Amino acid sequence: MKSITDELVCYATCINNSELLPMILFFIGASLLLFMFYMKTQTPIHRIISFAGAQTSMVGAIAATFSTMECSRMFTIEVYLAYVSISTGIMIFLPGLYYKILIKRHNARPISEIVDWADEFVNTLANDSQVYYFDSAIPKAFASGKTIFVSVGMLEIFNEQELKAVLAHEAWHLRHNNKTPILRQLSLMTFTKYRPKQELELMADRFAEEIVGKVPLESAREKLI
Ligand SMILES: [Zn+2]
Repeated sequence: MKSITDELVCYATCINNSELLPMILFFIGASLLLFMFYMKTQTPIHRIISFAGAQTSMVGAIAATFSTMECSRMFTIEVYLAYVSISTGIMIFLPGLYYKILIKRHNARPISEIVDWADEFVNTLANDSQVYYFDSAIPKAFASGKTIFVSVGMLEIFNEQELKAVLAHEAWHLRHNNKTPILRQLSLMTFTKYRPKQELELMADRFAEEIVGKVPLESAREKLI
């Protein structure tokens, strides 16, 4: 039984001497690029394509590595298993942690700094949720995980009832996240100008209507660009 260091040295030597080295590097590079794209894109279909692409490239890299190994092939299998568990973990946990990336990306701040009732209002509708605001003149709102994001532009032009309509709509999404298909969880749940056609959106609207009434919900929608 070789030590791990021996395994690593052998592994590195085998890859280094392999004719397949350019191919292995190409697969690894492609996989990393696709994974970065996966983290960045907000379109569900692009997410699934880039994730599948990253996985396929990595499997290519691992298969090529496996075929060049002259030392213990077990090590390649161990590397592969480690890779599978890490990438599966990311797939499972990323939707839940995505709001943290969004807070950073939008430089968002807790809404309690400027609107004192918003957090309390949302928490009566969805437990453990939080509201953040971010700097954008365009009125928009979206939800991810347990967090609702509202733009400064929306805070400026929406009155309290209209804002409550948007927050109630988004709070419904937070409450029913577990019913939402995973791909949809990976995309942002936005409040848009257009009257929704999807069932989940209609349900969120119906909920908001129950809380604030039809009028603020309609006028909130009209104020969107
Ligand atoms: Zn919605």
